[in-house]
Amino acid sequence: MDNIKLDVLAIAAHRDDIEITCGGTIIKLIDRGRKAGILDLTEGEMGTKGTAEERGSEAKDAAKIMGVTFRANLRLPDAAVEVNHENKLKIAQVIRDTKPEMVILPYWIQRHPDHLSASLLGYDACFLAGLKKLEIDGEPHRPRKIIYTSSFREGPHSFFVDVTEQFDRKLKAVATYKSQFDGTPSSREIYRPGVDIFEYMTITARHYGHKVGVKYAEAFAIKENILIEDPSEMPVRSI
Ligand SMILES: [Zn+2]
Repeated sequence: MDNIKLDVLAIAAHRDDIEITCGGTIIKLIDRGRKAGILDLTEGEMGTKGTAEERGSEAKDAAKIMGVTFRANLRLPDAAVEVNHENKLKIAQVIRDTKPEMVILPYWIQRHPDHLSASLLGYDACFLAGLKKLEIDGEPHRPRKIIYTSSFREGPHSFFVDVTEQFDRKLKAVATYKSQFDGTPSSREIYRPGVDIFEYMTITARHYGHKVGVKYAEAFAIKENILIEDPSEMPVRSI
């Protein structure tokens, strides 16, 4: 893994989490020449549908559609991702190996415990990876920027990314998870009963897009402030 130097590493608990929450943004960054990678923490073996193997090859296909150069899986136990030092070190090792400038994490408030754990582990791993004396291999590296996917949350959202041109490919990437979405109406209801995930993704992205004057957008939160060089050029009309 010596030669990998990513611009962006997205970390999430389950295969398909990244595609669903920020797939459009990942594709957009790659369209703009950035190198992006994905680290899935579990193999999704606790999912009601599909085996870990099926999900593995689906994740590869999704990565190909998105154009990511790196995708790894830590094989932590699904539905039992614990926030402990050992897991932080495992993620810190991947951060050192891939040296991303930016890391994308799940939002810090979550319904699924694994998503919350991924968020907390990811933040701590970013910090720890920069410590010289940490008991792992490689040179210290600390990502400059951490952004949190807040799509499907009420907010507060810090900013939106226009993914209008990438939206079809995002849907295609999610659709590769055939073991999850086998075409029967109920199989597509992974977020809430009675809600088709493709319809939900589309409505949500349209809603966020509407807030900023584009067709489709994805939402993000950050903990720090945004610095603007020239406020007169700030996008999004006031009136
Ligand atoms: Zn998930």
